[in-house]
Amino acid sequence: MKNSMKLEFPAVSENEPFARGVVAAFCLRLNPTLDELSDVKTAVSEAVTNCIVHAYAGGEGTVVLECEAEGDTLHIEISDRGRGIDDVARAVEPFFTTREDEERSGMGFTIMQTFMTAFSVRSKRGEGTTVTMSKRFGAANDMQGKAADAL
Ligand code: ATP
Ligand code: MG
Repeated sequence: MKNSMKLEFPAVSENEPFARGVVAAFCLRLNPTLDELSDVKTAVSEAVTNCIVHAYAGGEGTVVLECEAEGDTLHIEISDRGRGIDDVARAVEPFFTTREDEERSGMGFTIMQTFMTAFSVRSKRGEGTTVTMSKRFGAANDMQGKAADAL
């Protein structure tokens, strides 16, 4: 069965834990391990933080979060209508950041790429950015504890 949800919220820092909690709750039905769930939460946290920190640079704006569960795979799309990224290929490189002043490490996109099964970024200057990610559950060792058992 396919399941899906769509959520829009203001790009403010208190909504970062909210967003990762919502995605965690949504994907529990796919029976992730604790490690898999932690990977997804970290990736969502990085993507939403980027919308808050970079897209609107502290100004007002909204984030749209969409999730779809299909078979053993979770698809996530996180979009903003902020400033956009000039050079996406460069932005996704490890340690690339435009906010060294804020002691950012430039590892957000690298973390998303590493922790998720698939990852891509679409962006247009002045129009916004969309991060698309997916995670296939069950690829890891079956002996790991299931997140649902920890509830
Ligand atoms: P870290 O995530 O380690 O705190 P960072 O946010 O700078 O540092 P990445 O998340 O990898 O690192 O992002 C790299 C760069 O891509 C950012 O410095 C920023 O210039 C740009 N960027 C990322 N997301 C967005 C976005 N939603 N809108 C505009 N620019 C973005
Ligand atoms: Mg980041």
